[in-house]
Amino acid sequence: MSATRLNGIGMTSVRTRERLVRRLGDQGIRNLFVLERIRDLPRHIFVDEALASRAYEDTALPIGFGQTISQPYIVARMTEALLARGVPQKVLEVGTGCGYQTAVLAGLVPQVFTIERIEPLLLRAKQNLKELGINNVRFRHGDGYEGWNAQGPYEGILAAAAPREVPVALLQQLAEGGRLVMPVGGEGRQDLVRITRTAQGYEHEVLGPVSFVPLQSGTITAE
Ligand code: SAH
Repeated sequence: MSATRLNGIGMTSVRTRERLVRRLGDQGIRNLFVLERIRDLPRHIFVDEALASRAYEDTALPIGFGQTISQPYIVARMTEALLARGVPQKVLEVGTGCGYQTAVLAGLVPQVFTIERIEPLLLRAKQNLKELGINNVRFRHGDGYEGWNAQGPYEGILAAAAPREVPVALLQQLAEGGRLVMPVGGEGRQDLVRITRTAQGYEHEVLGPVSFVPLQSGTITAE
């Protein structure tokens, strides 16, 4: 990829990104590693060229197949919630989408495992991360309701799509001391929850209202 495309110009320039990061700070994101990662990662390469000029607005944008790239504030908030008590070694992400949240995580933790049910999106995410030289991510086309047992347990699990109830497989694949951050609830409005696995069981915290696409079972394969 050309340096101009990676670095961006005008509405995709470093200065535009700095403005976004200042805004996230004003909205209460405190983790400097998370803020720096968002400042340094070009979000415009994850969206269609026609939308690139809007890539640093704090908003979700369409990525095809009825899905969206998450709003930067939500990505920051979830990542901060995941990292709050130290850096997890292995993180499982459910709902790769175009790979933006994946790329944010990959710069902050040693290993990321990511699952997406829509294969064309997964292939695009793979390509996006390759262009950025990110190589600590493993991809899987599959149903996140089942997690990715062979690679677990995970010190961190993060999901970008909302089930009505937390999938049992994800709870089982969480390491002791590990934390799971995900939206839970019905269509339109959910609670962002954080579940910490302890020696005694699972601790639940509700972090606030959010709005995500639903977690859907089954997979869609590329032609
Ligand atoms: N983190 C992504 C957001 C993608 S939106 C980003 O930064 O772009 C949520 C994604 O979850 C969609 O791509 C959707 O296809 C995917 N998804 C929904 N249900 C899923 C499931 N059961 N398993 C895996 N992925 C799922």
